[in-house]
Amino acid sequence: MSSTFDELRAAFRGELKENEPLSRHTSLKVGGPADLFAVPADVEDLLALVSWLDGRGIARMAMGGGYNLLVRDGGIRGAIVSLERFNRIEQVGPELVRAEAGAENLAVIRFAQERGLGGIGFISGIPGTVGGAIRMNAGAYGEGILGRTECLTLLRGKEVRDFCMADLEYGYRHLELQPGDLVLAALFRLEGREPHLTSAEIRKDLELRRSKHNVGFPSAGSFFKNPPGQAAWRLIDAAGMRGAEVGGAQVSQVHSNFLVNRGGATAQDFLELAGRVKAAVLETSGISLEEEVRIVGVDA
Ligand SMILES: Cc1cc2nc3c(=O)[nH]c(=O)nc-3n(C[C@H](O)[C@H](O)[C@H](O)COP(=O)(O)OP(=O)(O)OC[C@H]3O[C@@H](n4cnc5c(N)ncnc54)[C@H](O)[C@@H]3O)c2cc1C
Repeated sequence: MSSTFDELRAAFRGELKENEPLSRHTSLKVGGPADLFAVPADVEDLLALVSWLDGRGIARMAMGGGYNLLVRDGGIRGAIVSLERFNRIEQVGPELVRAEAGAENLAVIRFAQERGLGGIGFISGIPGTVGGAIRMNAGAYGEGILGRTECLTLLRGKEVRDFCMADLEYGYRHLELQPGDLVLAALFRLEGREPHLTSAEIRKDLELRRSKHNVGFPSAGSFFKNPPGQAAWRLIDAAGMRGAEVGGAQVSQVHSNFLVNRGGATAQDFLELAGRVKAAVLETSGISLEEEVRIVGVDA
């Protein structure tokens, strides 16, 4: 049977899947299908893909590890672009490491550690890719990855361009980009660090996460951002929402800012539960929680 994407398939060297269920690609294990799930082989392939999609008015969105995404049950009308094959990491100066978007956070830290460099150990326990970490300004212990980033390589429109962080706006779990921008790589400014110190940092982070974040079910980490000067989990507890459930979605009993999939949850369950949590917190504390998790796609 012929499809809209046959013409693209003929020229594309990477991987293309149609109607790909995104529940297979998200840590929450929910999400309907993407019309197209594309994994370009290299930059040339990516540029050809983007030009083909743009020429037909088909929307595109990047996906890294899917650890911070709630995809609605109707899925994504358009294309998901995975940069998993862009995963090169290289040292480009005495304290400069460049990593492509598809590289995993921990792989970048290990690469730096082997060269006696450190400074981004705080992301060692954050699951996902460099592209996702940059997009989210992922961080922990009061630090965000963009604070250690010098420049980004972006695909903006049809052009690959470098941007210094001084020219971009960013803040807590936020980076201002234009719609359709893809992060292709990031340049990190690191510092000399004995490898055993990085090992200790990674171990400490993993132990802390094991003791505090071991929620036992699929999650996307913290569901809500911490409002200024507040911890979202405390507000959720104070609103009596720890353990609240809608269908298969639950406010974790272990960490109340984690919403978990206890089995068979739909995106709609998560959306309803998140709505109830927000309403309860607003009522008890007067504070409007904002989702940290990216909510995308269309309803079933
Ligand atoms: C158990 C657990 C613990 C977590 N702990 C933390 C934590 O301590 N701190 C923290 O900050 N986060 C945490 N997270 C959330 C998540 O790991 C981070 O947000 C992570 O950076 C997401 O990376 P990803 O590759 O999975 O991105 P995805 O979830 O795939 O995507 C996230 C967003 O980035 C965009 N994106 C992805 N790649 C690109 C690209 N190349 N170009 C443009 N946009 C892109 C996507 O479109 C989406 O909007 C946790 C999650 C889990 C499951």
